[in-house]
Amino acid sequence: MATEDTTQQANPSEEEDAIGRIPTPPFRTPKGVHDILPHDHDFHTYIKKIVRHRCRQAGFKRISTPTFEFTEVFKRSVGEATDIVSKEMYTFEDKKGRSLTLKPEGTASICRSYIQHGMQDWPQPVELFYIEPHYRYERPQAGRYRQFWQFGFEVLGEADAALDAQAILLPYRIYEDLGIVDTLKLQINNIGDLDSRTQYAEALRDYYYGKERYLSDEDKIRLEKNPLRILDSKHEDTMILNQSAPRFSEFISQESKDYHDEVLEYLTDLGIEYTLNENLVRGLDYYSQTVFEFWDQKKGAQNSVGGGGRYDGLMELLGGPPTPGIGFAMGIERVIAQMKRNKVRVPSKDNLHVFVAQLGREAKKVCLPLMDELRERGVKTMGALGKGAIRNQLTIADRFKVPFCVLIGLTEVREGTAIIRDMTVGTQKTVKMEKVVDEVIKRIGIKNLDYYNPKEPANE
Ligand code: ATP
Ligand code: MG
Repeated sequence: MATEDTTQQANPSEEEDAIGRIPTPPFRTPKGVHDILPHDHDFHTYIKKIVRHRCRQAGFKRISTPTFEFTEVFKRSVGEATDIVSKEMYTFEDKKGRSLTLKPEGTASICRSYIQHGMQDWPQPVELFYIEPHYRYERPQAGRYRQFWQFGFEVLGEADAALDAQAILLPYRIYEDLGIVDTLKLQINNIGDLDSRTQYAEALRDYYYGKERYLSDEDKIRLEKNPLRILDSKHEDTMILNQSAPRFSEFISQESKDYHDEVLEYLTDLGIEYTLNENLVRGLDYYSQTVFEFWDQKKGAQNSVGGGGRYDGLMELLGGPPTPGIGFAMGIERVIAQMKRNKVRVPSKDNLHVFVAQLGREAKKVCLPLMDELRERGVKTMGALGKGAIRNQLTIADRFKVPFCVLIGLTEVREGTAIIRDMTVGTQKTVKMEKVVDEVIKRIGIKNLDYYNPKEPANE
């Protein structure tokens, strides 16, 4: 179980050492990217298991797209005026001068893949999920990294309010399994179709013109390029201005309103609470109709742990046939931070059963096959196969908190025995070599053995 919180810090490797110096190893990770150390992997593994289980139950299939794509894929779909495209992309040229970009989000690549592989001929809707790292050149801070993991899914090929409700239900159940659903608030909005958004954008421009001095530099640019994005601003003065800005609801067609009401009705039927948030527009241009985010109850917009929405026009932007879609993505590091803040414990299967300590080359010869047999039979076994006194080996065993040790020294080799030591009570017993595995299993208990059958069907 993890105790340290490495996801919270902007750069965990800059911790001071015991006497207050910052150690300076010659190489360290670049700003904003992190190693995932074993104790955080317990969280990653747990989250992946839950996600895969929930997706499998709902008939979703897993997809992986490449780490990089042609830059155009993101420019065309995510939109030039978005934060992602305008300032957050890791773009580089390959040796032939082609512009490539590390994927900043998942939807564009999956739509590209849908078109490329003719998925419109598959049974619709095509429901795909992914668990992948993504890359954004952001200013690193708690919960905001340059490489971060996302779980996400897309439902392509059909548009229906019930599918929107399902796209909210699935993450809702996942957050529930993860033990954090009560700490989150679902924010939901309907941003209408392109026509109503164009009209609304005009109204927003009229409203903000003349008030530019209160806007941040970034929001001034948004005013020209995509005024809706101003509503998503995290700049304090802008947020105050936003409160009196024209309302989206005045510009939304009756059809969209009905659609929205239908989604909300499904949510109510499912017992999912929501907050209507007219300022929720999401950071990407491709959204239409339903948009939603799950926010930490306390921390507000900066702490979105996941979000999604409908994007019925996106496939055409990428040169594909008109194909409706809805998707969702959650930041795994933010979920982990949320779990840690709320003291959610995750089970780990890494605890060892047995530590095998030996003395001398002859003992090692006996140890290796013994360890192999223990493992074959489901006993999680570690051995000190280097040199070192038995006493030191036992100290290591203590640090691994193993319940049992098997000790083999020269006498034991000669007599064909081994010592089994109960580390909790400190008692030990000599047993015949051929009985060691049975005896160990008896003590651990058959139900606690760690079996894995590679022939069982894969789960993703
Ligand atoms: P924010 O408003 O916080 O910048 P966003 O709208 O850019 O979020 P999305 O594009 O919707 O985020 O990505 C989906 C999820 O991925 C977010 O809800 C968040 O949990 C996570 N996420 C986004 N950017 C980062 C990042 N730089 N580091 C870690 N997690 C991130
Ligand atoms: Mg962002």
